[in-house]
Amino acid sequence: MIRVEDLHKSFGSLQVLKGVSETISKGEVVSIIGPSGGGKSTFLRCLNLLETPTSGRIYFEGTDITDKSVDINLHRQKMGMVFQHFNVFNNLTVGKNVTLAPVLLGKKSQKEADEMAAELLARVGLQEKADQYPKKLSGGQKQRLAIVRALAMEPDVMLFDEPTSALDPEMVGEVLQVIKSLVKTGMTTVIVTHEMGFAKEVSDRVFFMDGGIIAEKGSPDQVFNHPSNPRTKEFLSKVL
Ligand code: ATP
Ligand code: MG
Repeated sequence: MIRVEDLHKSFGSLQVLKGVSETISKGEVVSIIGPSGGGKSTFLRCLNLLETPTSGRIYFEGTDITDKSVDINLHRQKMGMVFQHFNVFNNLTVGKNVTLAPVLLGKKSQKEADEMAAELLARVGLQEKADQYPKKLSGGQKQRLAIVRALAMEPDVMLFDEPTSALDPEMVGEVLQVIKSLVKTGMTTVIVTHEMGFAKEVSDRVFFMDGGIIAEKGSPDQVFNHPSNPRTKEFLSKVL
């Protein structure tokens, strides 16, 4: 589904990604862990070209999206992204947040989109909130809305960048639960997270990113219980 070839990204003279090559398969759930500044967010943002790679190629569903002649917006619609800070439109109702993009982009009529929104909102326990504005929602509810908003575009892959890091502790569980149920539907998922228990539980593979490379990768059991890289061991000893 996503193939990354020798991805490099620099900001000015700062080399952030130093050659990442990886394939993520359809239906796979990949967690990315690692120390702050290791390049996790930059890697994720490169996957949908929110950051332009300095060099290297990214293939999404067979298309080289780093090719300048490709209409990235078309492909980006197939990649849902959820950030740490709730990316919802505060001036739109909860329902409108969900239906806006599919209607604007002509994927659905307003009526179809409204039906889908009702269904999706019910899936995350927000069915009563459709007519309210996001400012009335808790952080956890906003983040569940952000997830639904991404799902409304019927993406083929979901990218999460620390979706629970900005939440009060009591709201982390409800958001992880929503992601867990999404993963169960077979959604291809890449998630940067500091929730090690969650990563262990849901991932098919775990990438440990450090210093701009994937320094270690493997099954959750390999990476968490039998890490081979001293840097992984050191990191885990601090966070577990
Ligand atoms: P964290 O766990 O803190 O979120 P991270 O692994 O996601 O860290 P990145 O956000 O990818 O790390 O950042 C890697 C490095 O790139 C950092 O040194 C950061 O300051 C730098 N960086 C990221 N984005 C930019 C930017 N737009 N301009 C300049 N430098 C940037
Ligand atoms: Mg980050």
